[in-house]
Amino acid sequence: MTGKVYKSTGSWYTVKTELGKAYECRIKGKFRIKGIKSTNPIAVGDIVDFDLETNNKEETGVIHKIHDRKNVIVRKSVNLSKQTHVIASNLDMVFLMITINNPPTLTSFIDRFLVTAEAYSIKTILLFNKIDAYDKETLDEVRYLAHIYREIGYECIGVSAKTGKNVDKVKALMEGKVSMFSGHSGVGKSTLVNAIEPSLNLKTKEISSQHMQGQHTTTFAEMYDLSFNASIVDTPGIKGFGVVDMDKEEVGDYFPEIFKLKQDCKFNNCLHVKEPKCAVKAALDNDEIAFSRYRSYLQIIEGDEEHYRTDNWDN
Ligand code: GDP
Ligand code: ZN
Repeated sequence: MTGKVYKSTGSWYTVKTELGKAYECRIKGKFRIKGIKSTNPIAVGDIVDFDLETNNKEETGVIHKIHDRKNVIVRKSVNLSKQTHVIASNLDMVFLMITINNPPTLTSFIDRFLVTAEAYSIKTILLFNKIDAYDKETLDEVRYLAHIYREIGYECIGVSAKTGKNVDKVKALMEGKVSMFSGHSGVGKSTLVNAIEPSLNLKTKEISSQHMQGQHTTTFAEMYDLSFNASIVDTPGIKGFGVVDMDKEEVGDYFPEIFKLKQDCKFNNCLHVKEPKCAVKAALDNDEIAFSRYRSYLQIIEGDEEHYRTDNWDN
């Protein structure tokens, strides 16, 4: 039988078949997955093959195969630096929720988030929330930011989880897909999910960052099917995700506007910092690249690894 993993508690996995029947499954013996080394072999979102067995008169499953993953999001252990924990796999998209104030979302945070999402091949849609509460100036800022991100290919929607404005647009995008909602705490993730599906009460807020310290691997994601053919992956307490390994030279590939131009730079290993005849710097001088984006790029390539992690950031 084949199914999708909806929940993981470490040793047992809830696997749902296409017909919608859920089985509690476990893995037997050693189980290795090629690719990243992680503390957990199977994650929410994985497609697995399993055999049925009878366990105390109950039908349970034994997973014997995991299908190739389209993508994964991981959390890197803060203490044991080489360990990674796969939070979820096979996501179709992530909605990054942004507010201009209460709380402020900095462009450096947005850009780091987008770099990691690009590196993981996860489509990101930007939701500017709380537009009901903004004055004219703040709304101009939303428009300005939305313009920057639309120009480089990201879909941007102004929403109000409170009034329901454009929530239908978000739902339409979610149709038939597995999505996740990210963003700083307080941006309105729970409120929006509640507006999308009132009966679903997500745990996004139950785990504070204090509780997370040192025991993040016990934080498990869970997938929920909604009433309109869409699924959400809830990741309690996780605001973003970490990049496993990224070289300086690679960073520009995850900035769509830089990636597009790099072939025009004189040097093919151009980092777009001080090199002569750099197409990126030229575009920046002509206002074809947003300065805030370039600044984020510099921060990422100049900083150490911590700079492009979004998972251990407090607001
Ligand atoms: P989360 O931490 O991202 O899940 O954020 P919450 O959903 O808990 O929202 C944080 C606060 O922002 C709550 O007081 C919400 O009522 C408020 N809020 C959420 N969405 C909106 C919105 O669209 N407009 C306004 N004015 N307030 C909102
Ligand atoms: Zn260059």
